[in-house]
Amino acid sequence: MSKPRIIVTGGAGYIGSHIVKALVEKEYCVIVYDRKPIPGGLRALQAGGLLHGIQADLADRAALDAALRKFEPNAAINLAGYIAVGESVRDPGKYYDNNIANGLNLLDALLAGGVKCFVFSSSAAVYGMPREVPIAEDHPTAPINPYGRTKWFFEHILRDYDAAYGLRSISLRYFNAAGADHSGEIGEAHDPETHLVPLVLQVPMGLRDSVAIFGSDYPTRDGTCVRDYIHVTDLADAHVRAVEALLDGSPTDVFNLGNGEGCTVREVIAAAEEVVGGNIKTLDAPRRPGDPAALVASSEKAMQKLGWRPKHNTLKIIIQTAWQWHKRQMGKDA
Ligand code: UDP
Repeated sequence: MSKPRIIVTGGAGYIGSHIVKALVEKEYCVIVYDRKPIPGGLRALQAGGLLHGIQADLADRAALDAALRKFEPNAAINLAGYIAVGESVRDPGKYYDNNIANGLNLLDALLAGGVKCFVFSSSAAVYGMPREVPIAEDHPTAPINPYGRTKWFFEHILRDYDAAYGLRSISLRYFNAAGADHSGEIGEAHDPETHLVPLVLQVPMGLRDSVAIFGSDYPTRDGTCVRDYIHVTDLADAHVRAVEALLDGSPTDVFNLGNGEGCTVREVIAAAEEVVGGNIKTLDAPRRPGDPAALVASSEKAMQKLGWRPKHNTLKIIIQTAWQWHKRQMGKDA
């Protein structure tokens, strides 16, 4: 019997392309549905015939219906969301429109196409300012910005869709995704870039003079914010496990994905200096509004129920793989 077919909306993006690679390597047939074309780094996989691309918008119901009719997927993974917290505060309409309205369009098309298994990319942002760390899934949710609220609302929508229409889902609450595939072929590139690891690496790449440290007066070991950095390859593995669990009949659920260890902004910069072999200039800047002092996951539940274990779980591996990808990009631009 042939393996199930999985549609990955937003599969051309940073986390999506790593998930697509992991699925194709396990011989699933994957349909990438994205506004952007399949990234060059995945093209070699297309030769095997298991990877198909549809370049279209989630708002385009006719294109969605046509893709679902053509490929008849058994499950969907949705990563097609906007991710910049600051932008979501300035332009919430954009976020509610894409992350909620387009997401509903997708859910309704999936139901009409008979797809009842759905993996959703949620976020630690649903917790807002946490009361304690590490954070388990039963920690109260109270998002503090429109981005976090879109993830929180959508998790609720998914529970209602299960109760009413039998669409089973797994929401994966990512902590700080970073790093890149070991091949160096796919990696993180946002425009504009707002994430710490790529911004830090832009300094030795000569793309910026320094990196700003947003706040040095937090109640943490060195005064800078603590985050739980999780390698994108480990995130991808969790998505494969989540989709397999749903296809095996698992009920709707939600899981944190993190390493369970916090690193400060200064520790990230120090690790990057070690990897690149040179100083990285920093500038002390004011706190970024809405940043909690510390976000660290308890991922015990994913370990127990999905059998997931982060394997690339040191800051050094995360930064080394990110650096390898960035250097290769630099070579291409030269
Ligand atoms: N950060 C920083 N300088 C930057 C970008 C980020 O000091 O130029 C800090 C930010 O305040 C947070 C951490 O780095 O504490 C991770 O931020 P990022 O935007 O990568 O992810 P987030 O935690 O917002 O999901």
